[in-house]
Amino acid sequence: MKKKFIFITGGVVSSLGKGIASASIGALLESHGYKVTFLKFDPYINVDPGTMSPFQHGEVYVTEDGAETDLDLGHYERFTNARMSHKNNATSGQIYYSVIEKERKGVYLGKTVQVVPHITDEIKERIFALKKEGDIIITEIGGTVGDIESLPFLESIRQIQVTLPEEDTVHIHLTLVPYIKTADEIKTKPTQHSVGRLREIGIQPKILLCRTEKPLGYEIKEKIALFCNVKKEAVIEAIDTDLIYEIPLIFSKQKLDLIILKYLNLKTKRKKDLEKWKEIVRILRNPEKEVKIGVVGKYVKLQDSYKSIYEALIHGGIENRCKIIFKKVDSELIEKEGVENFLNDVSGIIVPGGFGIRGTEGIIESIRYARENKIPFLGICLGLQCASIEFARNVCNIPDASSTEFNPKTKNPIIYLLPEQRKVKNKGGTMRLGAYPCVLKKGTISYNAYKKTKIYERHRHRYEFNNKYRELFIKNNIIFAGIYLEKDLVEIIELKNHPFFVATQFHPEFKSKPFKPHPLFSAFIRSSKSKT
Ligand code: GLN
Repeated sequence: MKKKFIFITGGVVSSLGKGIASASIGALLESHGYKVTFLKFDPYINVDPGTMSPFQHGEVYVTEDGAETDLDLGHYERFTNARMSHKNNATSGQIYYSVIEKERKGVYLGKTVQVVPHITDEIKERIFALKKEGDIIITEIGGTVGDIESLPFLESIRQIQVTLPEEDTVHIHLTLVPYIKTADEIKTKPTQHSVGRLREIGIQPKILLCRTEKPLGYEIKEKIALFCNVKKEAVIEAIDTDLIYEIPLIFSKQKLDLIILKYLNLKTKRKKDLEKWKEIVRILRNPEKEVKIGVVGKYVKLQDSYKSIYEALIHGGIENRCKIIFKKVDSELIEKEGVENFLNDVSGIIVPGGFGIRGTEGIIESIRYARENKIPFLGICLGLQCASIEFARNVCNIPDASSTEFNPKTKNPIIYLLPEQRKVKNKGGTMRLGAYPCVLKKGTISYNAYKKTKIYERHRHRYEFNNKYRELFIKNNIIFAGIYLEKDLVEIIELKNHPFFVATQFHPEFKSKPFKPHPLFSAFIRSSKSKT
């Protein structure tokens, strides 16, 4: 089939949910029988988000092949069957890096290397490279139209649109239509300006997704259509919802999928079936129970830092027909005010990943609380590392046990750097990254959840459990439930005589999907639900 391209840009302000909108469009096109893939462009200079603080960037999503990528790739994988890899995310930094490398090799010998055409050609190459991966390539451009940084990306898609036949591309612009309370009016002006900005650089969007807190109504849609030069039926209301999994349904009701297919001159390949989406929305709107989960971490203040964790918990909730109430607890506050205040009303405790010593004493304290009070506990990466330190200190009586990440001079390095990691000088892309095999021990909670012995899970960490302490831990009732055999590294620990105490060195949250909840998250929620 002739490949088709969808471009998605955002206007007025950031954080309008372009990633989820793109993922929802992907889901709808899949339901018509098309294979979709995605490309996210991020206009910053970092080569990848791996070196940024979660407070700056939010979660770093890790793909199967070990790329540290934008969290929107998480939405793409959760909403569709597309498999993401390093090819599906590119930053300005990466693009410039490869152009400069080529320049040094003499690839452009004799020429002046410039943004147009060299940077723009590199951008176009990344888009066309995905032709092999899907029938429809959905390219999302990060940032907001009008930013200086995103201009080369916009210029590249303008060029693609003018060189390919009209029906091979469609441009969708996500914009904000604010409601002004004092005037009791919905305002279309920011949208007009944003589309005007796009037209200045030669792009006329064909479809507008209008984020709004109030229904737009016929007149507003008509006005937007007329002033922004798009068809009335192509002004889509993207109304606020508390359930992201409802968005494909909201779009489908307004026939967004059919409008896109029409512009791309494609026919539906099978009868669209959105029953599975309706079913999860039904479950989440009418849960059997509400289960309160304490999320204890160092980045809880920023909604986006643990995106995949929250989603995976919601998926575990779907499987168990319950709604998850998140109690987000800043581990530094636990250090100041004590654990009891924060965690005495939760049915389960989860500790997500993190870097550096700040807040880790509060995390360790909350794990002690979960262990002693037999509250279901799931620890992830830093969660496993802190659980091991807690256990060494409070059960094995090693009071100064620590990680060399927190205290390089510790006499009892329960968590430490492997010799090969000690040699690494660079900070970017040098952790243990991506999917590794892990063998599960029969009879453990983990084995019973996965129901198989060999699993592959994604990693993003430098430090490892120090095998010197294995014997001692086993004597004290720890089970090493999962091992990376090739290097004999600890992947999962569990605690005997506890309803659910599981900690993993890998990040299971990256593989959870609404229609295929991750087995560990399902088991964790099942156990927490029975505590409610
Ligand atoms: N800071 C720890 C390490 O690098 C844990 C990382 C994480 O939680 N992802 O090993």
